[in-house]
Amino acid sequence: MKTLITGGTVVSATGSAPADVLVDGETIAAVVAPGHPLLEGIDGTVIDATGKYVIPGGVDGHTHMEMPFGGTEASDTFETGTRAAAWGGTTTIIDFVVQAHGQRVQDQLARWHAKAAGNCAIDYGFHQIIGEVDDESLRAMDELIGEGVTSFKLFMAYPGVFLSSDGQILRAMQAAAANGGLIMMHAENGSAIDVLVQQALARGETTPYHHGLTRPWQAEQEATHRAIMLADITGAPLYIVHVSAKQALARIAEARDAGRNVFGETCPQYLYLSLEEHLGAPGFEGAKWVCSTPLRARAEGHQDELWRYIRTGDVTTVSTDHCPFCMKDQKEMGIGDFSKIPNGIGSVEHRMDLLYQGVVDGRITKERWVDVCCTTPARMFGLYGRKGVIAPGADADIVVYDPAGHTSIGVGRTHHMNMDYSAWEGFEIDGHVDVVVSRGTVIVDRSGYVGTRGHGRFLARQLSQNLI
Ligand SMILES: [Zn+2]
Ligand SMILES: [Zn+2]
Repeated sequence: MKTLITGGTVVSATGSAPADVLVDGETIAAVVAPGHPLLEGIDGTVIDATGKYVIPGGVDGHTHMEMPFGGTEASDTFETGTRAAAWGGTTTIIDFVVQAHGQRVQDQLARWHAKAAGNCAIDYGFHQIIGEVDDESLRAMDELIGEGVTSFKLFMAYPGVFLSSDGQILRAMQAAAANGGLIMMHAENGSAIDVLVQQALARGETTPYHHGLTRPWQAEQEATHRAIMLADITGAPLYIVHVSAKQALARIAEARDAGRNVFGETCPQYLYLSLEEHLGAPGFEGAKWVCSTPLRARAEGHQDELWRYIRTGDVTTVSTDHCPFCMKDQKEMGIGDFSKIPNGIGSVEHRMDLLYQGVVDGRITKERWVDVCCTTPARMFGLYGRKGVIAPGADADIVVYDPAGHTSIGVGRTHHMNMDYSAWEGFEIDGHVDVVVSRGTVIVDRSGYVGTRGHGRFLARQLSQNLI
């Protein structure tokens, strides 16, 4: 089975050039100049990409399908969430296995394998959340490296559920420094935040807006700095997830300037949405945008600074932190008490488009778009060679993206996530995902989704390929 993608401009992290791409079976066989003799007489399906960009399939390094949270569960299953991802040009997700206090790491990993196996439209890997650092979970970290789960998320927030003490964080970092794993950190000072939350509720400040006010940037900056210092003691590489405060990114940039293995991830919501316009929407509406870290004040200029840090390279990757909850029965649990609103925004379908709009708006180059959405996530999480690149030998995960197309985001238009609202309602994108190929199989074409449940396979990942 051969497929030829002709007439397009192949965009990579390092440059763009007209090129034809030959796919043989599940992998890319050749990337050659248009009309190259190698392509003569090739018998196979032809995808005409004239006037379009040909890019690696998106790699979303941060999703939470079916994740239990506060008495409910994220509304996308592995089936619905990966299908929505495919619609939006993402062909790989890395989801988080959850170990909360009192659970065994290996049991939880087995549970996540069972949830995902046979259900995914696209390939998937796992990170492991370590909610309880003890001798057993530290041993499990070593075992997981050999099973292709090579990154471990710790929490400085959510006391009593996920929070690790500084001593526990240090021990997990020592383990990662020894076994080569990557530490991912939710960096917010959860103990301080919990006091602010209780005080706000006691004053009768119960609306979604106060979710933002009780998680101030200082709590993010402080935790980010503390995580960087702890990592520095141990030598473990550190990846700060979902950074929303410009001050936290300044700490990350400073550490990077000093030559440390410190990386920052942000998400589309922190680039586009704000405390004032979204969390501060009238009534309970703001619940749609309750996530942690929270959306920040536009008046403080975080959004523009985050775009700038993408340009400078201090934001390493843009992931979604896709963690969808419906308004009905889920977000509504927090009417009258914002602390009961399940935390999360659904974006897995729209990341490639939203970041492409940054290209149109002159925020980033199209090469940087591919870099932060596809190539560097693959390198960061040990998938490079297979994912994130259009080159011979790589998996044929390819998106034909139409810069002359248009995408209107919203329920009833482009909305395939299992949610009863869109956090991105009304966003207009000057571009369009035309064709999506996953390991040589067309899963989205101009008629829509044509993939199959169970096509996606588990990806055993290598150690990070992005360390200095
Ligand atoms: Zn988090
Ligand atoms: Zn997350």
